Amino acid sequence: MFGLTKDEIKEMAKASGLAPRDFVVEDRIGRDFQDLLRSINPVFLKTMPGGRRLRLRLNPFGDCIFLGSRGCTLPRRARPIYCRLYPFCFTAEDRLMVLLSDTCLAQKGAGSWHDVIERMGEDETGLRRLFARFKENAREHAEWAAAGGTVDELN
Ligand code: SF4
Repeated sequence: MFGLTKDEIKEMAKASGLAPRDFVVEDRIGRDFQDLLRSINPVFLKTMPGGRRLRLRLNPFGDCIFLGSRGCTLPRRARPIYCRLYPFCFTAEDRLMVLLSDTCLAQKGAGSWHDVIERMGEDETGLRRLFARFKENAREHAEWAAAGGTVDELN
């Protein structure tokens, strides 16, 4: 699972009325995952500086705690950017890439990647804009973490 940035955590807390500690778990990612992220786009490592990850808490069934019976309970604007981009992301060279998945509903039966983007209610320009915001968030998050930022101060 990808890491959350401080700005995303603040946005989620505001939208859900929960304290960050109620939905964020702090852990560390291993070398293999760090290497995988580096190979996709090193910017992802900025959200987990030194391997320190702030991730979404899971319920006892292993699902995100914001998952309800009819999908995500957060308004779209308050969801983590990686959720809003999924199943797409961008490489370090700014190439759009898709993460293939049998369980992704947007990919099921789609004729092309343009269809998938359309089903998401987006277009490529919108996805690029979202990823640009993600990069800015990730840069600020790395600085905040290096200065000793903690989850509790994001209330
Ligand atoms: S879309 Fe919502 S329910 Fe799904 S992982 Fe993201 S925050 Fe959790």
